[in-house]
Amino acid sequence: MKDHLLRFATQDGTLRAAAAVTTDLVESLRQLQGTDPTATVALGRLVSGATIMGSLLKGDQKLALMIEGNGPLRKLHAETDASGHVRGSVQVPVSGIPPTANGFDVPAAVGRAGFLHVSKDLGLKEPYRGMVQLYSGEIAEDLAYYLTTSEQVPSSVALGVYLEQDGRVAAAGGLLVQALPGGQDALIELLESRLVALPPLTTLLREGQDPEQILRHLFADVPLGKAEKIPVTFRCNCHRGQIRALLKGLGKEELEALAGQEEATVVTCEFCQKKYSFSRQEIRQLRAELLEMPGRTDSP
Ligand code: ZN
Repeated sequence: MKDHLLRFATQDGTLRAAAAVTTDLVESLRQLQGTDPTATVALGRLVSGATIMGSLLKGDQKLALMIEGNGPLRKLHAETDASGHVRGSVQVPVSGIPPTANGFDVPAAVGRAGFLHVSKDLGLKEPYRGMVQLYSGEIAEDLAYYLTTSEQVPSSVALGVYLEQDGRVAAAGGLLVQALPGGQDALIELLESRLVALPPLTTLLREGQDPEQILRHLFADVPLGKAEKIPVTFRCNCHRGQIRALLKGLGKEELEALAGQEEATVVTCEFCQKKYSFSRQEIRQLRAELLEMPGRTDSP
């Protein structure tokens, strides 16, 4: 089953839902980031969460999630847009936390204390930024907690990553159901009870059920609006200009130190691992541009 996202709302517009299969995406991230199994599951959950939250975007809007916890993974990033392009990274890809009898101890890898940061570029002057403390470190609960408390939309989130014995990703996906104002209590209760009774998402995906079948089952007998299907793909939009800006952000003293080194400066994109090489000449040029910039002081 090819990675994709399906989204729709009920006909009365009081409930909206999205489900995604992200198996190939999470497997490519595992290979790019070199994650161990517990880190694969943690990063897989976060990017699957970003994917389903991406169903709420339109046009050129973008969403970035970042978890910063006191566990060994330290920081996890996931970014997406309205077209199903997703990228993700983890600062420390090897958690060192072995699988448990019932799966993976994601809160131990992420950390039980920390923050979930949400940044949304909605095409306005400044991006919207939100932050909540980690609720459990399980990630699905943390995202649901953020959506329900910070964005004040009661939300249910399920995320799943299932690994083969050798650590490869066998199935991954996410599910989001949101209750909008004006909904009938009876309908919300029906959905809640069906969500509780729903088998794990990865079980359904491994049985070959696609997001549409999962959502149709969940919303059986509820009149639905038109569904929209969006392909989900890994895409990193890094480019040399961005890396130049990042290097400039280091300040003139740091650039001077880099320009004094024998070797070229190589910056690796944390998402796609592409390497950008800058010669000493180019670093000197960046430093010169920095000095020419008016009204800017980099060092005291
Ligand atoms: Zn990149």
